[in-house]
Amino acid sequence: MNDPHIGRVVVDQEELQQRVAELGKEITSDYSGRPPLLVGVLKGAFMFMSDLARAVDLPVEFDFMAVSSYGSATRTSGVVRILKDLDLDLTDRHVLIVEDIVDSGLTLAYLRRNLAARHPASLEVCALLLKDGLQRVDPDLRYVGFRIPPTFVIGYGLDVAERYRNLPYVAEYRGPLPQA
Ligand code: 5GP
Repeated sequence: MNDPHIGRVVVDQEELQQRVAELGKEITSDYSGRPPLLVGVLKGAFMFMSDLARAVDLPVEFDFMAVSSYGSATRTSGVVRILKDLDLDLTDRHVLIVEDIVDSGLTLAYLRRNLAARHPASLEVCALLLKDGLQRVDPDLRYVGFRIPPTFVIGYGLDVAERYRNLPYVAEYRGPLPQA
């Protein structure tokens, strides 16, 4: 895509494919005999979740949640609103939250507390991207795809005002950020 707002590539298509395959293998072996319920956090995680699920050789099930953070468009305040809740009951399920990116960790901390209260048999997190050094809470991630520098990124599910989600790689965003 020829767009001056698409900056340096942070994780290219091949690296993504390779790492997703590795994560899929790890999850397949870790969850053998107790297939996970994958919980995707919309919208950002849809691309990662779709690729990851195909790399897991187990009878996984899917559910999705949509959340929105209050505060500015680029900084979360930790106050999270559930826009769409899960359809399935988590009681006694092995739940694996699939997240696109962890920045402050506040969104994830909220999600973890919220889902833990529903009595799953286990609750772990697989995050594609972890921004270096910005966590305000310990994100406690079982699986991490890539640690990246603390810049604002787009692509592979990640957007700016709903655009760029379909880029097949992760790139820095160079441009004005919309304010919420
Ligand atoms: P946290 O609560 O960890 O600070 O932020 C997590 C959420 O903020 C992510 O799920 C994502 O929606 C958004 N976010 C954080 N960093 C970025 C980024 O670099 N690019 C995009 N597009 N969204 C981000």
